[in-house]
Amino acid sequence: MRRTRNTKIIATLGPSSSTLPVIRALFEAGADVFRLNFSHGDHKTHRDLFNIIRTLEAEVGRPIGVIGDLQGPKLRIGTFAQGPVILRQDQAFRLDLTPTPGDATRVYLPHPEIFAAAGPDTELLIDDGRLRLRVTRAGADFAETVVLTGGRISDNKGVNVPNVALPVKALTAKDKADLDLALSLGIDWIALSFVQRAQDVAEVRQLINGRAGLITKVEKPTAIDEIDEITKLSDALMVARGDLGVEMPIEAVPGLQKRLVRIARTAGKPIVVATQMLESMIHAPTPTRAEVSDVATAVYDGADAVMLSAESAAGAYPISAVRMMSRIAEQAEKDPMYRAIMNADKPKLEATAADAISAAAAQTAETLNAACIVSYTATGSTALRAARERPSVPIMGLTPVVETARRLALVWGVHCVQSRDPSGFNDMLDLALAAAERDNFGRTGDRLVIMAGVPFGQAGATNVLRIARLGDTNTGG
Ligand code: PGA
Ligand code: MN
Repeated sequence: MRRTRNTKIIATLGPSSSTLPVIRALFEAGADVFRLNFSHGDHKTHRDLFNIIRTLEAEVGRPIGVIGDLQGPKLRIGTFAQGPVILRQDQAFRLDLTPTPGDATRVYLPHPEIFAAAGPDTELLIDDGRLRLRVTRAGADFAETVVLTGGRISDNKGVNVPNVALPVKALTAKDKADLDLALSLGIDWIALSFVQRAQDVAEVRQLINGRAGLITKVEKPTAIDEIDEITKLSDALMVARGDLGVEMPIEAVPGLQKRLVRIARTAGKPIVVATQMLESMIHAPTPTRAEVSDVATAVYDGADAVMLSAESAAGAYPISAVRMMSRIAEQAEKDPMYRAIMNADKPKLEATAADAISAAAAQTAETLNAACIVSYTATGSTALRAARERPSVPIMGLTPVVETARRLALVWGVHCVQSRDPSGFNDMLDLALAAAERDNFGRTGDRLVIMAGVPFGQAGATNVLRIARLGDTNTGG
């Protein structure tokens, strides 16, 4: 089984996708990685979903990546005594630390740090920015505001405070419990929400301690201020356009998406473009033209992965949404313009053997129209450097480490196969040829461009580039 596209697809699981048959259908339709969203569902739900994914993985014989997405310090208002209320423009509205249910004049906001950080003119955005309030006066336990944009407000809606670095920790008590669960299950990637500063990433990185990859969700302007340091401390980035579009002027998001994709590609770290990609497919069997264009744009930008949220978790057409995303990505990648863009945006090589060999492999593969590049990789770092080149042929990652294979499911163009360490040079050729043949990378006579580190089993020593031909055995030596 082999995908015929390089851009990966992440499908969020939820009520619409919680059984083995549906999750299998999502995988068959094109999902490479599944996301468990810790903002919803209890530990049993997540454990069950995780076990289903691993069952499916064993069934299909392909490594599948799993992301555990931590809710992070998401701020929410309290509840209303008589159900939803309507706030009108220019009216006064108060938020305070009194836990009694609210009404059209006030509501509970259990976050004193907001009151401490809010000054006159601080804007509070409620319910994904649908309502805007401006603070007129704030004390230790309250903020008085005037409504700039009114509307319906109801229980537990989210609150965003753009451009203010709040003195809140990277992880809440709930996040810590969720992280423990995720790590004990053996989840491949941890996504960190509402990162405000590099320090947040450093703290969580230490807690994870290499047991999973760390994806920083870029959704706060304050994180963008420290993006270089944050990229260094992260294993991957996500353009979390949902909250980003609330925290920033929405028209700034497309340019930021392009900038973040470039930053991540230059660093050789995977980048995910997320949220509202096929939003209308939550309710409709076909997407809008604009959504198709949006998914294609992320692919043309060179993103490693595109993500479905509610479309696959809670929508009426989860499988069609994955299939549609896959078709859009395949079509964009076939466009000669796509290849031209990938080549034109190539980041500079670093002065390492891995980069020199990755670039040579990409060049050789293109010149010979090879079936694929084969990258022997233990930690995944060699395959990441190969993917950074965005070569014109797929990359087959051969790794003895199943965790590496699963993590690399997120990465552009990498098809991972679990394999033992080769016993020698001829064995290296045989293993690569056998894997390429089994997974249909080409026909007899097609060439493979193999990158490896000799002696085998030693990390960080990529030093060999070898061309082999499908159908040959033991041609090396
Ligand atoms: P969320 O993150 O879906 O967990 O909010 C993604 C985003 O904000 O875009
Ligand atoms: Mn978010």
